[in-house]
Amino acid sequence: NKITRALLYLSGVSVSFEGFRAINNLSLTIDHGEMRAIIGPNGAGKTTMMDIITGKTRPDEGDVLYNDGNVDLTQLDETSIANLGIGRKFQKPTVFEQHTVEDNLLLSLKADRGVWPNLFWRTTEAHRERIDEILEITKLTAHRSRMAGALSHGQKQWLEIGMLLGQDPKLLLVDEPVAGMTDAETAQTADLLRDIAKDHSVVVVEHDMDFVRALDVKVTVLHEGSVLAEGRLDQVTSDERVIEVYLGR
Ligand code: ADP
Repeated sequence: NKITRALLYLSGVSVSFEGFRAINNLSLTIDHGEMRAIIGPNGAGKTTMMDIITGKTRPDEGDVLYNDGNVDLTQLDETSIANLGIGRKFQKPTVFEQHTVEDNLLLSLKADRGVWPNLFWRTTEAHRERIDEILEITKLTAHRSRMAGALSHGQKQWLEIGMLLGQDPKLLLVDEPVAGMTDAETAQTADLLRDIAKDHSVVVVEHDMDFVRALDVKVTVLHEGSVLAEGRLDQVTSDERVIEVYLGR
């Protein structure tokens, strides 16, 4: 059945904050290897949805199942969920500014199982190889010896996506990655995520429609805590209800 084949399965999920239903009977399925874009006006529940998946917020009702329905995420804490291979990148980059690009990646590789990493731990050949791969993917090879604090905003975002890759996640949750980026950086970020999506599942929340168009993936429109529409971007953006929700504000 459908449940047992999905990477992530949300069904009938609701959560209220002081009587206000931020998530209201939300159902959503992410397939293995899929990249999905989540859009929706401010207050639609996008952040709360990510918080529920990562265990930061516990739903009042509904199922949140992972890995073919084998794991009930509502019963686990944030660290256990991260250890299942669900990695999240928040909107603002949080790289270690006083360390080089390479050392930031090394820290992410050594930071497994919730143990605070230490740069003095032994660096293996496998670490070196993986750093080279991630630098290549994130187009930061030429910047490997620079201080992370000296990078542009876009480069810091790519480095942080690289650090997420260093944790070897199965599912990446990416929150508004192109906010504050130039058009060129936005286009490069779409390329980067499409590249990552070749061997990872990705859920990306974003407002920037040019970016979402460039991702060229199935889009879910959230509104008032539930799914308003789902489909290709040109389909959902020509849906009367979606137009009303966006233009009616
Ligand atoms: P989005 O990310 O789509 O902008 P959010 O998930 O941040 O939406 O918020 C959905 C709704 O829930 C908003 O109306 C917001 O004010 C409310 N909300 C979110 N978190 C809390 C909280 N901790 N306490 C009270 N209200 C909250």
